[in-house]
Amino acid sequence: MLRNKIGWKFDNTYSSLSESMLSKLNPTPVKTPELVLFNEKLSKEIDLDFSQIDNKELALIFSGNQLPNGSESIAQAYAGHQFGHFTILGDGRALIIGEHLDRNKNRYDIQFKGSGKTPYSRNADGRAALGPMLREYLISEAMHSLKVPTTRSLAVIKTGEDVIRESILEGAILTRVASSHIRVGTFQYALISKNKDDLKTLFDYTLNRHYSDLKKSKFPATDLLKVVLEKQIDLICNWMRIGFVHGVMNTDNMTISGETIDYGPCAFMDKYDPETVFSSIDHQRRYSYFNQPRIAKWNLERFAESLLPLINDNSKVAIEVATEVLKEFPKKYKSKWLEMMKKKLGLVGDDRNDEQLIIELLSWMHKNKADYTNTFCFLMNEYKCKKEVYSEKQFILWKKKWVDRIKLNNNSQEKSFKIMREVNPLIIPRNHLVEEALKYATEMNDLSKVQKLIKVLQNPYDEISTTSAYQSVPFSHENYITYCGT
Ligand code: AMP
Ligand code: MG
Repeated sequence: MLRNKIGWKFDNTYSSLSESMLSKLNPTPVKTPELVLFNEKLSKEIDLDFSQIDNKELALIFSGNQLPNGSESIAQAYAGHQFGHFTILGDGRALIIGEHLDRNKNRYDIQFKGSGKTPYSRNADGRAALGPMLREYLISEAMHSLKVPTTRSLAVIKTGEDVIRESILEGAILTRVASSHIRVGTFQYALISKNKDDLKTLFDYTLNRHYSDLKKSKFPATDLLKVVLEKQIDLICNWMRIGFVHGVMNTDNMTISGETIDYGPCAFMDKYDPETVFSSIDHQRRYSYFNQPRIAKWNLERFAESLLPLINDNSKVAIEVATEVLKEFPKKYKSKWLEMMKKKLGLVGDDRNDEQLIIELLSWMHKNKADYTNTFCFLMNEYKCKKEVYSEKQFILWKKKWVDRIKLNNNSQEKSFKIMREVNPLIIPRNHLVEEALKYATEMNDLSKVQKLIKVLQNPYDEISTTSAYQSVPFSHENYITYCGT
């Protein structure tokens, strides 16, 4: 009865694609669902009202034990290059329970992650553990507040069932909200599908859903490649701005919408080192901090390959056209990266030494193991912890140059600080704090630290009384490692 008041408005369009692109099935019910986290703010943003629903019923809803009216759950098929190797994949432990429309007709996939086996599970259990699902909730919501395009997190429930990894862990389900789950890998899958129409159908669907302006284009496939390239450049620049290392930039983890997706082995860089990698399995540093733009380009090449039949009937011509588009990547990225770094330093207008000034600072940080986030905080007079490194001679010389540069073009320090404050977070999800919070939640059943961290990370650009506690970097976390087994 009460459930009618929640305001679900399902309009499920993806299932209109051919059967080869998806599987229709319901979540596997779980034993004793229990609500762990619920994002009331996000629910309101998408015009859902759970205020009359108690925690017990929330747990039934977000476990999939009680599906809302109008939901029709599906697992999507997709492929992907994982660490460079092509594999057929698909939602092996996730189901989209429906597409919800808010009052402005914005469309959101509501997805359960950890909801049981699907035809794409291969030999895995279709389930997820509590720690990684809390981690995705925490980091994805922090990314949103850090002003980075991302999928969102609406809820986490515990299933009351064990999942077996290296040890026995508590099972959990995350409810993910995304503007869609169409990936580069979805196009790769459609390209090789036995059903010849799948690629064109997926393409038309994607234009309708995300880029309807392109429907009028004379060369829609080429233009789709161009916009996705722009979106990915913007996204990677955002990651670079805040020191985010995604960690598993496989083509199945790159969205066509330009949202960050799949928070597995991701982490935030502390001391500046372009080669930073956190993932335990990324031995070749394929997905290191500084390699992210290169990998984005590589993934876009795979996307372009999938689009070739739609770009031109003549494959030679299609390759030429796509190559022309991709060739623009380095120049476009460089220009947006420079623009972003100039904002981080509050540089107004252009000066021919700007790039040099930025590179000198980055090299200094690298050499002196200075913290990436805190260095920009220090320049904004917003760093509250120990500052010895900033008394170093080279840094003082660099800072003099910087102070002179920001005075150019009729600019003042106040104006520069205002620009810098918009793009330089005071607080990021520090690895040691994330780990500590997760440890309390998973080992001691104490959610207070996770909740506190989520709250603090809602305003990462604002100073609060406890800012300094979130800026400290413990020495022992120099070699932080994240794991894929989630
Ligand atoms: P990810 O590393 O989360 O991007 O997942 C890569 C692929 O493995 C996706 O197709 C997932 O659905 C699948 N996968 C990951 N973990 C599991 C699991 N426990 N059970 C079934 N499929 C999984
Ligand atoms: Mg994935």
